[in-house]
Amino acid sequence: MTTDAQIETPLAALLKKQIAEKPMSVHDYVNACLHHPELGYYRSQTAIGRQGDFITAPEISQVFGELLGLWSAVVWQAMGTPKHIHLVEIGPGRGTMMKDALRALKVVPAFRAALHVHLIESNPILCDRQSEALKDENVTLTWHQDLYEALGAGGSIPEGPTIILANEFLDTLPIEQYAKNGPYWCQRNVAIEDDTFVFQPTVAPKCPPIPETLEGQERPGDIFEICTGFEKLTQDVLAERAKSHPLAALFIDYGHIKSGFGASLQAVKNHKQVSIFHAPGESDVTAQVDFEAFKAHCLAASEKANTPLAVDGAITQAEFLGSLGIAERTARLMTSNAEAAGRIESGAARLMAPIGMGGRFKVCAVRSASLQTLLGDTPS
Ligand code: SAH
Repeated sequence: MTTDAQIETPLAALLKKQIAEKPMSVHDYVNACLHHPELGYYRSQTAIGRQGDFITAPEISQVFGELLGLWSAVVWQAMGTPKHIHLVEIGPGRGTMMKDALRALKVVPAFRAALHVHLIESNPILCDRQSEALKDENVTLTWHQDLYEALGAGGSIPEGPTIILANEFLDTLPIEQYAKNGPYWCQRNVAIEDDTFVFQPTVAPKCPPIPETLEGQERPGDIFEICTGFEKLTQDVLAERAKSHPLAALFIDYGHIKSGFGASLQAVKNHKQVSIFHAPGESDVTAQVDFEAFKAHCLAASEKANTPLAVDGAITQAEFLGSLGIAERTARLMTSNAEAAGRIESGAARLMAPIGMGGRFKVCAVRSASLQTLLGDTPS
């Protein structure tokens, strides 16, 4: 069976019924694949890790979470060492990053004592994993299922200085695709032909919000992707949260610094790339994050809410971890764990590889404009 073959998963059967009546936008298809309340990938699967579908930076090296913990302590200092601070992780997976961060933070006991840790996770199975991973940490931990009910206006996380960490969360937000057909842009839908899923352009033309820098540069057949969730995230969470107290949020994801044309929507199952129609609900469907668009949304949300926000980056993961001293930390760890030195070194090298994670993953920090820059003196 090739990876393009379409498996009749329970979600595939359900979607086919719906789509047979009316084609569905790519956004709604991806949203169902990832977030359908019972059958969506992020509700039912626990696929992160070596045995799962994909592996993430915290699962590759403990140094990743440790450095993010120490970065958070520097931000806390920049905020004026408040007595109480919310440290929020969105999409914590197996809880590994937070565990590593909290371990590294034992060297900053005043920050640890100020911490209220919040984990925003939609997958109940992963909540259990996180709870197990963090059970011996001596900090207040609270779980929240819904991002907007937790961090939106009047949400369950009380007002106060806040640091948000999100590794591989932005790519869980569904995208919409547009295709240039002849002289027109059309939104792309998912339709059914011969009982299989296919892409189909909409009949009525619709132009996507292409940034000025790209205007007029498209060629026939080009695809343009937009992440529809950025608006709500930046308006209802980031600008809202920064209204009353200092905010710093760090987003790390596979993506590009500048907007461009091209289809990046893909699915991954068992560490292999497959068609997004291969196993709906049972493969991870993601698109590369467009950090230029994300930044533009942050600035628009800031203006709309009259809340001054600034954005640092995006820069590459290698630049970010390099500026936080990954080389020194890895060397120290290798000296104190001689028997695991090889594994520690190869893990750090994988996070930094220019044509691997180090170059492909980007880091972007959103902060209250009153705070100093949060990505060091690395180029933006
Ligand atoms: N940060 C982790 C996991 C990344 S995978 C790591 O680096 O290993 C994406 C994570 O986001 C998973 O934990 C997934 O269940 C969670 N997630 C996806 N959509 C979500 C949503 N809308 N609200 C909360 N959590 C979500």
